[in-house]
Amino acid sequence: MDASPAAGQPPSPHADRPRSLSTPLERLPGVGTARAEKLVKLELVTASDALMHFPREYRDFSGAHAVADFREGEHASIAGEVTSVAARTTAGGRPLLTVLLACKDGSVRGVWFNMPFMNRRFAAGMRVVIAGVPKKSGLIWEFSHPEVRWLSSEEQPHASDWLAIYPLAEGVPQAVVRAAVQAALAHAADLPAEAFPPDVLAAKSLLPIGEAFREIHCPSSQGMIDAARRRFVYQELFMLQLALRMHRERQQRDHAAAMIDVDARLDSRIRARFPFPFTPAQRRVCGEIVADMRCPRPMNRLLQGDVGSGKTAVAIYAMLAVAATAVKAGEAASAAAAGEPPGSQPPVKPLRYQAAIMAPTELLARQHMATLERLLAGSGVEVQLLVGGQPAKERKRILARMQSGEVGIVVGTQALVCGETAKFSNLGLVVIDEQHRFGVLQRATLQKGATDPHVLVMTATPIPRTIAHAVYGDLDVSVLDEQPPGRQTVRTYRVGPEQLDQWWEFWCKKLAEGRQGYVVVPAVEESKRELASIASTFEALANGPLEAFRLGLVHGRLKPKEKAAIMDRFRAGEIDVLVATSVIEVGIDVPQATLMTILDADSFGLAQLHQLRGRVARGSTQGICGAVTAAADASIPRIEAFVATTDGFALAEQDLLLRGPGELVGTRQSGAPPMYLADLLRDSSVVAEARRDALELFARDPSLSAPSWGRLRELILKRWGEQLGLGKVG
Ligand code: ADP
Ligand code: MG
Repeated sequence: MDASPAAGQPPSPHADRPRSLSTPLERLPGVGTARAEKLVKLELVTASDALMHFPREYRDFSGAHAVADFREGEHASIAGEVTSVAARTTAGGRPLLTVLLACKDGSVRGVWFNMPFMNRRFAAGMRVVIAGVPKKSGLIWEFSHPEVRWLSSEEQPHASDWLAIYPLAEGVPQAVVRAAVQAALAHAADLPAEAFPPDVLAAKSLLPIGEAFREIHCPSSQGMIDAARRRFVYQELFMLQLALRMHRERQQRDHAAAMIDVDARLDSRIRARFPFPFTPAQRRVCGEIVADMRCPRPMNRLLQGDVGSGKTAVAIYAMLAVAATAVKAGEAASAAAAGEPPGSQPPVKPLRYQAAIMAPTELLARQHMATLERLLAGSGVEVQLLVGGQPAKERKRILARMQSGEVGIVVGTQALVCGETAKFSNLGLVVIDEQHRFGVLQRATLQKGATDPHVLVMTATPIPRTIAHAVYGDLDVSVLDEQPPGRQTVRTYRVGPEQLDQWWEFWCKKLAEGRQGYVVVPAVEESKRELASIASTFEALANGPLEAFRLGLVHGRLKPKEKAAIMDRFRAGEIDVLVATSVIEVGIDVPQATLMTILDADSFGLAQLHQLRGRVARGSTQGICGAVTAAADASIPRIEAFVATTDGFALAEQDLLLRGPGELVGTRQSGAPPMYLADLLRDSSVVAEARRDALELFARDPSLSAPSWGRLRELILKRWGEQLGLGKVG
């Protein structure tokens, strides 16, 4: 979405003070220099910026509620007449103002602490609307520090009184933002050009753009808030889908990829390397990948599978298929460069395609490396690890072997592998493991050459489909919907402080039986405190409940090599209990570890908790997980959901519902293109509709060449053209 003016805008009626979307806020009446300086913190500089700064929520100020409607914890606004005003000082010495209102179906009370200046503003007989979250106090509902609107003698409360609440930054108060938006509306609400042709607006019942801007900031009713939101969300997603489609099509047209053909012989040769038969789901997904890679167009596939479903095996299968395929003559970059006539050299090993897998942490990269080395022992495929902190000489050697084509598979962290993709001789496939931040823009950087690698993105954080469409709209999706045989669900408990002794006793019994386990401590941002808190937890356990056992400690401040060494000892059974920060959260695979205690579980997100629990769901022994929380009686919906279900998809939906609007697809987090306000779960029907319509338009007119779509096309190119390689405007 964009509020920039269309070409050919009619001349402004005030020729002396031209109105423009790029007018600096500072020049608008009611803003001024001091406020404008503050607004910069929110990146609000021009009228257009302010128009595009959408409210986070709305407060109902209509006074339309009755006492009978009040619900504990819910916002309400009610109109009434002041019947008494009492100012006194509490026993604690704080000034307290109590105002009693007679409303249409009963009395309510407003209270203000420490705000003596409010006393003068109320008198018996005044009519007001108050808004806030009432609480039952004895027999009467009480508003603590409500917002107040004083009604003049004739004035009736309006159904239209909805107050926009804006996202803020430190030191930028609500009133300043509101003033800027109001000024921008007065100055420029009618300037943004309409992106949709009139017949589409009508057919889709979308508010025209100017009206949408007015209603999103100054709604005239709840219904209009919804209508305005719908208009912006629809446009946002419509444009995004078109951009992703255009990107995909361009890629398919302009980019070639290695043709990887897996015949029955190769298939059984690869599968024979694994110590287990593939699950039907793994076989199906491998088939989908093979079908993609057989075509000379780059694969773009997302593999979703709950923790423990065996994504690594699928990735390794695909990488081995690539590494077994000979580069066709004429396609080998390095061979061609040599310029030797054929036959002038002794026949060498044919050049083969290469594959790379990138992990989010070094620990996980090392684990993948170990798995590959185990599976490929005695094979001709060379595997190399590329991580930080390797000696420069070693690194140089590996890079040289990548470039000459001798390395078949490279395992590394994202930062490193991503930076070195150009150094491969014939990169055929990139696997991206557990990279929730690896969105379309990041992927676009991988696929820039003449021949591009196939790309497989793997994630265990299941994304509801609506979101997957928005974030990964250019990907095909495969799902591993089956766990390897013999898996049991993890028994999960919530452990309150008063049950903690009992919990450790239970643990000791299990450890004495020979089990191994993790104790996870939340990582604190600040490194020193993190160390202190985990070290003291470690001490307390080692000298307390777990003193009979061998404990190990891993945290983010250890060197990668030290971390790896401790993990190896844990894997080898030389350590019974691993005390760890969430460095072990993603992907770590030690099947014989079956006990998990998550301390301060309430400080983890639901997805993270599920990932942690996944660490002990890997063997055939039933895993046991305890989520330790403060006060056992307080309701913590996240923890309750976690205890109640082990289905990752159900938890992902829950998570989104619980976190609510605004935090959904944090754009930077997900690597998705920026979105102004699509709250994807709440808007899921709009998402589906916008997607369907966009695909339909794309099928009819893939380059949006019809004049009526010219404006939309321009907006798409301006917003995403460069990042997605769609070309520039014009
Ligand atoms: P995730 O999907 O979470 O990345 P992993 O790939 O780490 O899961 O696999 C989890 C565990 O399951 C590993 O120990 C792996 O060896 C094992 N595994 C994978 N596929 C199978 C299978 N088909 N049969 C038995 N065990 C399997
Ligand atoms: Mg994994």
